[in-house]
Amino acid sequence: LETVARVSPEVARAIVQELADQRSNIKLIASENYSSLAAQCAMGNLLTDKYAEGIPHRRFYAGCDNVDTIEDLANSRARELFGAEHAYAQAHSGADANLVAFWAILRAKVEVPMMVKLKGVEGPDALAPADWTSMPIEKWNEVRHALGNQRLLGMDLSSGGHLTHGYRLNASGKMFEAHGYTVDRETFLLDYDAIERQAVEVKPLILLAGFSAYPRNINYRRMREIADKVGAVLMVDMAHFAGLVAGKVLKGEENPLGYADVVTTTTHKTLRGPRGGLVLCKKEFAEHVDRGCPMVLGGPLPHVMAAKAVAFTEALRPEFSTYAHKIVENSRALAEAFVKVGLKVISGGTDNHLVLVDVASALGITGRQAEDAVRRCGITLNRNPIPFDPNGAWYTSGLRFGTPAVTTLGMGAAEMTEIAEVVHEVLTHITPGVSKSGGKDKTKYTLDPAVEKKAHDRVEKL
Ligand code: PLP
Repeated sequence: LETVARVSPEVARAIVQELADQRSNIKLIASENYSSLAAQCAMGNLLTDKYAEGIPHRRFYAGCDNVDTIEDLANSRARELFGAEHAYAQAHSGADANLVAFWAILRAKVEVPMMVKLKGVEGPDALAPADWTSMPIEKWNEVRHALGNQRLLGMDLSSGGHLTHGYRLNASGKMFEAHGYTVDRETFLLDYDAIERQAVEVKPLILLAGFSAYPRNINYRRMREIADKVGAVLMVDMAHFAGLVAGKVLKGEENPLGYADVVTTTTHKTLRGPRGGLVLCKKEFAEHVDRGCPMVLGGPLPHVMAAKAVAFTEALRPEFSTYAHKIVENSRALAEAFVKVGLKVISGGTDNHLVLVDVASALGITGRQAEDAVRRCGITLNRNPIPFDPNGAWYTSGLRFGTPAVTTLGMGAAEMTEIAEVVHEVLTHITPGVSKSGGKDKTKYTLDPAVEKKAHDRVEKL
């Protein structure tokens, strides 16, 4: 840090401040965690200086032997950890992993078959890069139009899906004709029969499962059946719960690896590694996934792949499985404590690492007000839309709580109960401000100072 401070004291100060911040606040953001010092050291070093476009042992740059060792290790540990046929550790983030997966599926299912037909050659191996560059523009435009004419069916953002699953402001919503399935309006659970009916109607190229804010597990056997019925590729984005898969909390029908063609994930959430992405797939898609560069990526990040290899090694240890089980125990304890103090928990509880609480319908406040008030008392979490949210994605009606980080700190059920009580106390003492039109303001609020002080003191003791 001294070295950083000599060049840029502002950056060094912000790093120290971030450390102080993370230590003095309780981190309940469901997508965050604390990576190990080993993972951080593997990431913060000279490996950042190396270019290594291509895949291990087939690079477009010289001198890649050490990066080959690192990437081979990251891939083989990922395969072992998840029982996957193929792994690709180059994706820089979860969003990139999804782009790699989308384009690999498009390439395998649309582009290559069309090229073969148009060129009259057989199989992907018969297609040299020259076939792409030499094809007359009119023919190539046929391929491009076919690529742009495909359908994606994923979980709707408002039901807990992710922006990269077909949201119109994201590339996925522009690349595909995107359709969204929702949770049931009464139970807030996925209704597989309804998804099946929608899939029959939409006939998507890709059926996408996975979420950012759904507090339940998914039945992948059922999703596979639906994909098979309509001839779709089943893709699962396990960014949020990869740690629960690695830690063997999710097994059988709840483990996507046994059922999906392509699985993507981030490496920094429940999986507790560095910020990054990973693609796992069946052999059929391996050759296409490996073309992440030049498809959508440039040079890989060798320092981050090194940290991924370290994190996957950590996740292979028995202690990680114990940790993963505790994440869910804590999440359940938190949900139960919320129900006990009278907060409205979406779907009545949780099966995984996150809990979604509706603060609007019973308390008359927005997620934005609640997030800010709780933060003032030393708890960091994020506001989140609840299914069919009347307050939209900016103000929201909900708060999303996650237990991966507090579990890493060693907290247990007693602390979850204490947190739930503090949160309840704060939320029930928020008074919304008055908007210009005389109604309730969605941002401004007041919080009883005595409640804030007491909550802050209780959080400090945790
Ligand atoms: N997929 C899901 C389900 C996510 O929840 C997220 C991030 O929150 C992403 C993808 C994107 O990950 P990243 O922020 O690393 O691009």
